[in-house]
Amino acid sequence: MIRLENVSKTYGSGAHAIQALKHVDLHVPKGSIHGVIGLSGAGKSTLIRCVNLLERPTTGSVQVDGEELTRLSGPSLNQARHQIGMIFQHFNLLSSRSVYDNVALPLELAGMSKSAIQERVLPLLDLTGLADKADKFPAELSGGQKQRVAIARALSSRPKVLLCDEATSALDPQTTGSILELLKEINQQLGLTILLITHEMEVVKTICDRVGLISDGELVEEADVGDFFTAP
Ligand code: ADP
Ligand code: ADP
Repeated sequence: MIRLENVSKTYGSGAHAIQALKHVDLHVPKGSIHGVIGLSGAGKSTLIRCVNLLERPTTGSVQVDGEELTRLSGPSLNQARHQIGMIFQHFNLLSSRSVYDNVALPLELAGMSKSAIQERVLPLLDLTGLADKADKFPAELSGGQKQRVAIARALSSRPKVLLCDEATSALDPQTTGSILELLKEINQQLGLTILLITHEMEVVKTICDRVGLISDGELVEEADVGDFFTAP
């Protein structure tokens, strides 16, 4: 579902160039949950942002559901991005919009009718356990509830892939557990492929099928989660 081949990313140029990714190959099969773990500065955020071309790789190939994204730009790239939802450490909700209107936003921007939007949004609020919070504003919610809104919003355009950028790093362990449970449920119910980056072992252990270790821009190790944590 996600295939990166020989992806490199350099920020800046000349003496100030930073090589954030070095010849990264990554394959995430349909329906799996894949984690990439690494220390701060290792290149995790750059890697995940290359999957939806929030960052454009300097060289290499990025395919999602068989489509080469690096060839696309403008409207065709935006169209392809509907296949790819993303959630963030700090949720990135609009504070002036209610829960309902945050989840509805991508659909409004896509020009969908109010009734079609409602048919999409209400089941997503149910799925994410927010049915009674539709009219609340982000400031009235806990961190875990905010991340649930972000998940519902990410799912609103019915993506095939969900990218999670340190999605539980701002949450306490108990809330982290419940968000990971929700992600697992979504993976199983909707068959959604999930790629997540984290600096927390516990996250990887809890929900990932496979894990890669990134260090200094290189994906140095990859294994099934069971093998990864029992390796000598
Ligand atoms: P991580 O997510 O693992 O903390 P990042 O992908 O954010 O790692 O960063 C990898 C390297 O690239 C770091 O050295 C970081 O300073 C650098 N970097 C990240 N984003 C930029 C940018 N926009 N401009 C210049 N350097 C950047
Ligand atoms: P506007 O975007 O014009 O300010 P609203 O945000 O009040 O309007 O609502 C836009 C549409 O979204 C409404 O017509 C309604 O169909 C739907 N809507 C808003 N909030 C809810 C909710 N809590 N439950 C169900 N539908 C809602």
